Amino acid sequence: LLQLFRPLDLLGVVYRTIRQGLVDMAQMFQLMDTGVEVEDAPGAPALVVDRPSVTFDKVVFGYDADRTILQGLSFEVPAGSTLAIVGPSGAGKSTIARLLFRFYDPQGGRILIDGQDIARVRQDSLRAHIGIVPQDTVLFNDTVGYNIAYGQEGATPDQIEQAARDAAILPFIERLPAGFDTEVGERGLKLSGGEKQRVAIARTLLKNPPIVVLDEATSALDSRTEQDILQTLQRVSQGRTTLAIAHRLSTIASADRIIVLDHGRVSETGSHEELLRHDGLYAEMWQRQAAERRPGPGLEAEV
Ligand code: ADP
Ligand code: MG
Repeated sequence: LLQLFRPLDLLGVVYRTIRQGLVDMAQMFQLMDTGVEVEDAPGAPALVVDRPSVTFDKVVFGYDADRTILQGLSFEVPAGSTLAIVGPSGAGKSTIARLLFRFYDPQGGRILIDGQDIARVRQDSLRAHIGIVPQDTVLFNDTVGYNIAYGQEGATPDQIEQAARDAAILPFIERLPAGFDTEVGERGLKLSGGEKQRVAIARTLLKNPPIVVLDEATSALDSRTEQDILQTLQRVSQGRTTLAIAHRLSTIASADRIIVLDHGRVSETGSHEELLRHDGLYAEMWQRQAAERRPGPGLEAEV
């Protein structure tokens, strides 16, 4: 009888592993266009995270041999701190997230988590430690509860409810006709951009990874919804090592450190105040965006 059960247990493990892989794939859809198979080294150990620091050490990477995107990129995110990554569109910000997830291997340099080269550990163990909130969350055509719990097979209803509460979407779910069992997505209830981002946040909180990547997590939202969600994102970053990729600078002024990416290199680094004093690319981007936020003199003259 025991022998009969063993293959079934094994199947369960494989099934859960595949599901976990799928979640990360789904979450990565916005980040990647194509995926290249990256293989585990034979006998690769699992990533063991005690202090979840993230280090890019002279990372060189290009999707094609004739065009280098990251030209020896180095930065370090100490465990528990927040690094904001800003820079023009196409600078390589999402590429950093894809490399951290190891959808590709760098052509030069190393990426370390807690001192371990991510190319030398098992991919499933790597991805289990990283959560991502993408720019635009795509929901599955299933229930709200399923969408929050996706990938966390063992999650209890209480844990799912707590994640929804922490993502500030519980009151909304409780007002739905069937609560957590309400069907959403194309064939069900359509959620707003902000509600979808809260589902993604709840999913990440339930996963409870030590490292999170926010890849322009609020850039598809109007500015009022953005302000609401930003407070909730603070909760996601709390106590976790965070890479916050942002186009709108107002969303990252509170980061511990900011790097400005330009042509595949760090062109400036510092706190918000330091970068403003430095009066370079960041200060220029900040002033331009501040002008867009405020009605200018031209507008006032019309009133
Ligand atoms: P960002 O997130 O800063 O806007 P990305 O990291 O997405 O920029 O992209 C950096 C550069 O790499 C861009 O020029 C983009 O066109 C290119 N790129 C992104 N994905 C691929 C891919 N799968 N194949 C080839 N080039 C790509
Ligand atoms: Mg991007």
